[in-house]
Amino acid sequence: MGQAQRRRQELIDCHDCGNAVSFSAVACPHCGSTEPAGPAVQSRRELRRLRMEATNDRRLVVVTVLCTGLGTLYGALTGAGGAASLWSALFYGFIGAVIGVPAAFVINVSRSLFD
Ligand SMILES: [Zn+2]
Repeated sequence: MGQAQRRRQELIDCHDCGNAVSFSAVACPHCGSTEPAGPAVQSRRELRRLRMEATNDRRLVVVTVLCTGLGTLYGALTGAGGAASLWSALFYGFIGAVIGVPAAFVINVSRSLFD
């Protein structure tokens, strides 16, 4: 009897407060959430947008690091040597970062436009 009743009630954990709530409940009796089962179906569009934002963040970091690294390398190779090379590397590394951030931003924006 007890088991049969549990199966009929289909208790789930409330998406918002974590308390047991009937799957068929319209609202959670504990926290009043109107979606105790959680968002039934997260739209593909929404999922895609979330994935794209994560990709954009990663790309921003990668492009910035890449530009900074290339700038530093360029400065080190073209520098006069010794301390001059070090300053040159720092300078071009900085230039790389300054160029890299907006470059990544432009890539992200243009990608989201054409996607
Ligand atoms: Zn709840």
